[in-house]
Amino acid sequence: MQVATTGLVLRQVKVGEADQILTLLTPDLGVISASAKGSLRLKNKLFSASGLFCYSEFTLTSGRSHYFVDSAQVKKVFHGISDSVEAMCLATYMAEIALSLSPAPPEADAQLRLLLNSLYMIGQKRLPLRQLKTIYELRAMSMAGYQPDLLACVSCGRYDGGEFYFDPIEGNLLCADCADKARHIPNLDAGALYALRHICLAEDKKLFSFTLSPSSLKNLSRVSEQYLLAHLEHGLKSLDFLKTVLE
Ligand SMILES: [Zn+2]
Repeated sequence: MQVATTGLVLRQVKVGEADQILTLLTPDLGVISASAKGSLRLKNKLFSASGLFCYSEFTLTSGRSHYFVDSAQVKKVFHGISDSVEAMCLATYMAEIALSLSPAPPEADAQLRLLLNSLYMIGQKRLPLRQLKTIYELRAMSMAGYQPDLLACVSCGRYDGGEFYFDPIEGNLLCADCADKARHIPNLDAGALYALRHICLAEDKKLFSFTLSPSSLKNLSRVSEQYLLAHLEHGLKSLDFLKTVLE
C-alpha cells in the first residue's frame, strides 16, 4: 500500500553501500523508519530529500514492519543549522528529544510543528541558542502530557513577587517563604518565572516572542533541563556534547 506524507528527517543510518534507513517525524503516522535505497548517491532522486533535518513530501510503500521511500520532494531546508557546531548540536539534541517522546497522532502534528519552528529559529540566529533549547524542552514536554503546574505557589497560593522555587520532579512552584520552610533554595528569579509561564502557556505564534536577561536565562535553562531529564527517565546522548559547546 502506498501512502503520501510530509516528514522531517530526524536520523539517518547508513546501510550497505549507498542505502539509508531514515527516521521520520510525520504528522499522521508519528515516528516511522523508512528505507531510502541509493539515497547516499549524489545523483539519486532521493538524495536531497533524505538529508538530515530536511522537511520533505514523501511517497512511501508500507511493508510488514517498515516503510520504503518511493519518491521524495524537498519542502524545506533549514539553512543556517549547519553553519556552526553549536547550532548542529542543538538541532541534534532536539531531534533526540523528539525521538524519545516519539509522539503518536494527533500529538505528532503539533510536535512536528514545534520542531520545525525551532529549527527555523536556530537558522535565524535572532535568539540565543540556550533560549531556544529551553523553549523546546519545556514546550515539547508540555505537549507530551508533562505540563507543569505554574499557576501559583502550591503551598500558599502566591502568584508572583520575589524568587520562586520550581520543583523539577513535582513540576510545581513554591514561593521563597514556602521554599525556605521546605528547605529548598529558590532557583527562579522574576524574569525566569515569567519566561517559564510564557513558554508553557503562550499560544503557538507568540512562543518565541520574549526576551530575558542572561542571568534569568541561565536560571531557567538549568531548571528546564532538570525537568526534562526527570520526566524522560533516561539520559540523552547528545546533551553532554551540547553542554560542552554552548557558552
Ligand atoms: Zn508560598
